[in-house]
Amino acid sequence: MITNIDINRKGLKMTERCWNSHCTNEGKTDVYRWILTDSLGMSCGKVCKDCIDEQQAKYKPVIFDDPHDYRQHMAECGENIDSDY
Ligand SMILES: [Zn+2]
Repeated sequence: MITNIDINRKGLKMTERCWNSHCTNEGKTDVYRWILTDSLGMSCGKVCKDCIDEQQAKYKPVIFDDPHDYRQHMAECGENIDSDY
């Protein structure tokens, strides 16, 4: 269960429309929606509270975890993220 505190910790921002094409909350004004970002702040789409799990499932779980693990994962995949660290 995702709470508002968890969502804030994940760096999500308010948005107006869910990216899930079969979202059951489409058009509802009393549903919170956010921009889902990974641990490096890259956007993974907009979600409402009911679709966030589904949207996150489209990505590797590691990208929502510790940024250090994320960078390591990217390096192992041969993708080099520019880093100031
Ligand atoms: Zn939705």
